Amino acid sequence: MSTKKETHVFQTEVKQLLKLMIHALYSNKEIFLRELISNASDAMDKLRFESVSNDALSEGESELAIQLEFDEQAKTITLRDNGIGMTRDEVIENIGTIANSGTKKFLEKLSGDQAKDSHLIGQFGVGFYSAFIVADKVTLHTRKAGAQVEEGVQWESNGEGEFTLENLAKPTKGTEITLHLKEGMDEFLNEYRLKNIITTYSDHINFPIKMLKLLKEDSEQETESGVEWEQINKATAIWTQPKSELSDEDYASFYQTLSHDFDKPLAVMHNKVEGTLEYTSLLFLPKKAPFDLYDRDRRYGLKLYVKRVFIMDDAEHLMPAYLRFVRGVIDSNDLPLNVSREILQSNQVVDKIRSGSVKRVLDQLAKLAKDEDPTEYSEFWDAFGQVLKEGMVEDHANREKLAKLLRFSSTYDSDKAQRVSLEDYVTRMPETQEAIYYIVADNHSAALGSPHLEVFRKKGIEVLLLSDRIDEWLVAHLTDFNGKPLKSITQGDIKELVEEGEQSLSEDEIKARSDLTDKVKKALAELVSDVKMTVRLTDSPACVVSEEGGISSHMARLMEQMGQALPKPKPILELNPNHVLVKRLEAIEDSEQVKEWAMFLFEQAQLAEGDHLASPSEFIKRVNSLLSAGA
Ligand code: ADP
Repeated sequence: MSTKKETHVFQTEVKQLLKLMIHALYSNKEIFLRELISNASDAMDKLRFESVSNDALSEGESELAIQLEFDEQAKTITLRDNGIGMTRDEVIENIGTIANSGTKKFLEKLSGDQAKDSHLIGQFGVGFYSAFIVADKVTLHTRKAGAQVEEGVQWESNGEGEFTLENLAKPTKGTEITLHLKEGMDEFLNEYRLKNIITTYSDHINFPIKMLKLLKEDSEQETESGVEWEQINKATAIWTQPKSELSDEDYASFYQTLSHDFDKPLAVMHNKVEGTLEYTSLLFLPKKAPFDLYDRDRRYGLKLYVKRVFIMDDAEHLMPAYLRFVRGVIDSNDLPLNVSREILQSNQVVDKIRSGSVKRVLDQLAKLAKDEDPTEYSEFWDAFGQVLKEGMVEDHANREKLAKLLRFSSTYDSDKAQRVSLEDYVTRMPETQEAIYYIVADNHSAALGSPHLEVFRKKGIEVLLLSDRIDEWLVAHLTDFNGKPLKSITQGDIKELVEEGEQSLSEDEIKARSDLTDKVKKALAELVSDVKMTVRLTDSPACVVSEEGGISSHMARLMEQMGQALPKPKPILELNPNHVLVKRLEAIEDSEQVKEWAMFLFEQAQLAEGDHLASPSEFIKRVNSLLSAGA
């Protein structure tokens, strides 16, 4: 063990983060105290948990508490906890490096816009480093619970690239942090200011936060040591209190401590379950998506407690992945205190807590969606809609509930931001319409511009416009809603359109059409499975359609992008007999020329679909030669 004083340099990312953070959080500088208190509370939670199996760790101290002191002369603030503490190696690992692999990505996301950045930085969890918003020197003195007094470690830094480490004896376990305040930060050397910050942000921290009581000289309340500590916060686990005694502000401040968010939560769900199973859940929906919502190794937002003892963060088994944005606490009376992640993975109690919690979240969302003020749900949908869609694939049991929560763009009003529910769609369906129609495309404008929509537009039939990456999987699992099947307008026959189209044709017309389709089919034999006269098009000459129940060309493209190319099924080519180009093709006899025209129509239909052409240069040659021949 090295005992001499050593100088270390911060990881490059830490330096970068510190600089950005100090700037972005300047207008919220008092949150440093919330962050340090939250760390102290975590450290005491950990100690309490570990001393369940190893009593010696408590070192004879019965009360776990945080102490806050300030010194006007020295211009310092000191925060002390008697929690788990850190070893020298842990100090190096935790304070001076950022383990989270998402850090780089996070730094790239920062825009320079202070308001936006401070939100992101908050969610990233600045934690300890926030001390440097107000301090130009920070001294941390810590000792791991159960270690020797001499194993104390002192860390010190001015936040500008380097820190020093030395071993310094510490009689009591836990961590003491002293902030040497910057010029102009005197506002924090004030009892009332500090008390106010504590009650605003940390009232419901599980442990007492104490400050020295200023004793009047003639005071009768002399204590043994001449000082008296006064508890500032309520120090009751918020979730154990009855709802009726909690205000929106109480919930919001707890949420903000838990999530590092600057916003208030979108919704709060606080429930106590009693009976064969006993647990309390306090869950929050955030307003905005965190930057790493799609990271694979993203942490989950739930903390697990057992009988008020903190067990673990990021308890991923308590929420399915598609609700990973939910934050909060679950406190169970039925799980053992020594529960591990492995046990959680296959445990009946956990399964029940999980399904109860999922139900609560989905019910809450349904309530928001029904609410008179639709902007709240819209904002939620913008932030988390894509993630919620994963639930349709993941959570079969709740598919019906989830389907009601989905929102889509539609041709009903083709503003992209517009959000149509399946219920809205079904309500608007004329009685004769049999299916809920949709199109999936690479992006919104591709969906909106698809030739497949032409006849639906003409007839005034609403079509849902899908363009999220997950939408192909979504519709694979969402086969019907309220008894109405969902149907892609690019696949198979559209029954209600076909019947109508056929009735209006004479025998001669049918014969003339089959001559044309035979001719084109022969010309494109290798490329298409069939050629038909279309009922879908009004303006475009041709479109491609895939088999009913087969793989859509869009899905085939997605699978290819993911490196899992499927054998591509040959599409059906549909021709618009009323289009001038199709009529021209009809008049051509020469089989070479027929082939050129047929290829040209087929290729432009593929392009409209967003497909890649086998040979774009051949296509261009063909177009140029057809145009020059015409000129
Ligand atoms: P976070 O709390 O989000 O992990 P921080 O930068 O605030 O990030 O802290 C980094 C780590 O340092 C913590 O995860 C914890 O392991 C350790 N740490 C911070 N403060 C304390 C403390 N008061 N006692 C013990 N460990 C602490």
